[in-house]
Amino acid sequence: MKKIRSFVFLIFSIFLFNFAGSDVLKFDDFFIDNTMRIDYFHSGDAQNEWISLDKVYQQGIWAGSMHNLIYPFNNGRYFIKIYDVKSKSLIYSKGFNSYFGEYKTTDLAGKGIMRTFHETAMIPYPKEKIRFVIEYRGKNNDLKSLFNTEINPNGIGIIKESLIDGVKVWEINKKGDPHKKVDLVFVGEGFSIEEQDEFRKDVQRLCSLFFEHEPYKRFKESFNVYAVCKPSQESGTDEPRLGVFKNTSISTSFNSLGLSRYLLTEDNKSLRDITAHVPYDTIAIVVNSERYGGGGIYNFYCVFTTNEKSNEYLFLHEFGHSFGGLADEYYSSAVTYNDFYPKGIEPLEPNITALLDPENLKWKSLVTKGIKIPTPWGKEKLDKMGQEFSKREDFFKNNKYKDKVGAFEGAGYSSKGLFRPMLDCIMFSTRTTSYCKVCEKAIERVIKYYSY
Ligand SMILES: [Zn+2]
Repeated sequence: MKKIRSFVFLIFSIFLFNFAGSDVLKFDDFFIDNTMRIDYFHSGDAQNEWISLDKVYQQGIWAGSMHNLIYPFNNGRYFIKIYDVKSKSLIYSKGFNSYFGEYKTTDLAGKGIMRTFHETAMIPYPKEKIRFVIEYRGKNNDLKSLFNTEINPNGIGIIKESLIDGVKVWEINKKGDPHKKVDLVFVGEGFSIEEQDEFRKDVQRLCSLFFEHEPYKRFKESFNVYAVCKPSQESGTDEPRLGVFKNTSISTSFNSLGLSRYLLTEDNKSLRDITAHVPYDTIAIVVNSERYGGGGIYNFYCVFTTNEKSNEYLFLHEFGHSFGGLADEYYSSAVTYNDFYPKGIEPLEPNITALLDPENLKWKSLVTKGIKIPTPWGKEKLDKMGQEFSKREDFFKNNKYKDKVGAFEGAGYSSKGLFRPMLDCIMFSTRTTSYCKVCEKAIERVIKYYSY
């Protein structure tokens, strides 16, 4: 009897944890409806890393959910955790990736060259003293403490300055209360004062494209869309390998981490000073350049150029990284990372797997009935085929597994040992602008997290 009772209790606790866990925390008990922006520096090399606090700000209303305070996803190479000092309870958490996190896997970092990147944590504004904790993933993806400090929200060290001047703001698609919507902000970069109208038109075009694709299409009512731009002194962006340098408002640059098409910004402070003009959950940076390029870092930002031929693909792919926390599913392109996914360790992202436990595939509920795991999709044939475009296209078009969900070897920059859910996906190739079923479902969960 005792056993049965404790079993019932266990089931009840699991139910509570899964469905009402964060609702037990009442927003008003711990927070006011403002944003605390915590800026810090993230430094180190491949072996060492440390955090030092920069500045803490009190800014506009809180854009995130007032119910989902504890992060429901085990995704991101870092985590912020906020504890109430008095009760010692965890009152807010969120996973994320960072520019430093990518740097630390490069050859330069491996040689011991120390670098510093500026980062920001955004949390609802606490009423009382908090403990601000940053954790990183150890070798087995377990979370370990990297930094912790107390912050007094009522102390004199909190900056409450007015926002910077000269930022233009447009409401593109305002659907309602920011607490119950995904607040997406497009940031214009490399648009001069004369090109502001061009930026606004680009955003409108991108916004229409965005809502033509699932799952965004069926959740159109769950999004608020804004555009902000601080006119740049010069048009365009930096292209160091070509000797091109432009003075722009958030200093984006091609050749990030030494990759020719990788386009990012290290000027996080200017970026956050500009985006602070609207309530936002997620940032998309639109760079005024015709060259193909972009990048996306989970719960930080995505960047892409205005090249009309490819930005449907670029935007949706990079947004998949920055918003959905999705991994790259491709395996053939050269990347600069070392050991990005160490062997024998299950990746955190929802759309790739090391298949350590084939019986419990993480997208098990979506797998096509009766399909073989791993799925024999003809990889060896494709690998031997060479680069002839039409032959490769035919291979994908006529593949009998093309609409099936299984475990397809070749993913996460690795041709062996990592698996993706379907034959093709926007996270796998430029052949399609659709997410596979697993990626689509993962994004849907994130939309629901922000809009509840
Ligand atoms: Zn996918």
